[in-house]
Amino acid sequence: MIPINRLLAGYRSYKALYHEKRAELTQRLADEGQRPAILVIACSDSRVDPAILFNADPGEIFVVRNVAALVPPYEPDGSHHGTSSAIEYAVKDLKVEEIIVLGHHKCGGIQAMRSIVSGEVEDNHEFVGTWMNLARDACELHGADDPNSGASVEMATIKLSVKNLKSFPWIQSRIDEGKLRVHGWWFDISNGELYGHDPRTGQFSVVEKLAPVGASE
Ligand SMILES: [Zn+2]
Repeated sequence: MIPINRLLAGYRSYKALYHEKRAELTQRLADEGQRPAILVIACSDSRVDPAILFNADPGEIFVVRNVAALVPPYEPDGSHHGTSSAIEYAVKDLKVEEIIVLGHHKCGGIQAMRSIVSGEVEDNHEFVGTWMNLARDACELHGADDPNSGASVEMATIKLSVKNLKSFPWIQSRIDEGKLRVHGWWFDISNGELYGHDPRTGQFSVVEKLAPVGASE
């Protein structure tokens, strides 16, 4: 099937489900607006779609996707900050209660950065290299040269993004008030396991075993 026809077939299935069978839900969302309680910051990778991964209905999760699921630090400098503006809208306007930074195994963005840092390849991108510089520290810390360091770098990058989230003053203040929790999760695309960073141990554990589930950072 040619890609665009695959897309249209999928759209017809979506429409039959959400605008016919479950029209009440989508009509309510259209009339009353969205009120998602969760913001997920995920990678653009086609294998890690938060709506599919969490079996979410329309209106349930607000999603920001970018290369490698990175959160830049708080930099209100007048530049075009796509990720930061989506985070701002989710927190200030939608008042989400949970933020998940969702990294994943075999991340192409992280892999590209490791190759650049180790000098393996020259960066021929115009934007990706600069963007991935956000995670350079995590990469250098965990050994770009080590072929087995992929997961470690991916997890360190998630921790870095969680730390950057807290550099936004209106996020930290909501965390302090108990209105918001932030979590760092890592999805293993090989076996479908989902791991969460446990701030008490500094390690990633199977998310369902974290007590309480997904303890806040
Ligand atoms: Zn990725």
